[in-house]
Amino acid sequence: MPGRQLRIDEYRIEQEPYYLPTGDELAIADAAYHDGSPLLLKGPTGCGKTRFMQYLAWRLQRPLVTVSCHDDLSTSDLVGRYLIRAGEAVWTDGPLTMAVRAGAICYLDEIVEARKDTTVVIHPLADDRRQLPIEKRGELLTAPAEFMLAVSYNPGYQSVLKDLKASTRQRFIALSFDYPDPEREMEIVCREGRLGMEIAKPLVKLAAMTRGLKDSGLAEGASTRLLIQTGKLIGRGIPIKTACRAAISEALTDDRELLAAMDEMISSLF
Ligand code: ADP
Repeated sequence: MPGRQLRIDEYRIEQEPYYLPTGDELAIADAAYHDGSPLLLKGPTGCGKTRFMQYLAWRLQRPLVTVSCHDDLSTSDLVGRYLIRAGEAVWTDGPLTMAVRAGAICYLDEIVEARKDTTVVIHPLADDRRQLPIEKRGELLTAPAEFMLAVSYNPGYQSVLKDLKASTRQRFIALSFDYPDPEREMEIVCREGRLGMEIAKPLVKLAAMTRGLKDSGLAEGASTRLLIQTGKLIGRGIPIKTACRAAISEALTDDRELLAAMDEMISSLF
């Protein structure tokens, strides 16, 4: 945790982020926001969840405070702690507290990675009470109407054990994300990867083929994000096949057979 006080203004999104809707996710999220309900975004990595939150925050004109959860994340990391400054204990809000006070959107990315005792702190915030207890200060914050809590998780590679508890997940309005359909994915890859359709099209095909390798033991196929990264390499002059290997195959696996299978796919398309 940095020793510096976070400032909410740093979390405002001034420019409209590019987001191509893939269904009714915006209408549902808007309704959840106005009802004061928290959001649960589920879906594989790199399919647009973070971009969606950035767009939503911009649309609602709220700052977006994102926290990437990990198994070392403590309640203090979220809520805040006393720090010693010039010999004095000074309270410093954590990102969650800062978001509640400011009526911002707090996005806890990969929530299932966080320790159970850490996620408990969001329970009273996620239900009708919309409160955040700050135990160390004996303070109970009530979230303003503008505050929204959003969490994400990837149902693909979380074990059953790590799955969200029913009591937690039943508080949320859930949005299911997946890779965009080929037409939309091509549009996104062209724009974000700065590519022409003649390359974006086979790249999207390649992604679909790698997603089919799940049955052969590949944990996850190429995400939209990986296609964009491939496009950027190509844009910098890296030959297409080399770019596909570096940004897709090698990024996805170390398994020789899977790498060989992906090499064949790449050669069949380019
Ligand atoms: P996630 O949070 O699901 O891991 P991201 O939101 O970071 O994934 O998506 C990865 C990248 O893919 C984004 O930076 C963006 O460039 C692109 N992307 C994916 N879906 C969309 C979409 N629907 N509209 C615009 N860009 C998208």
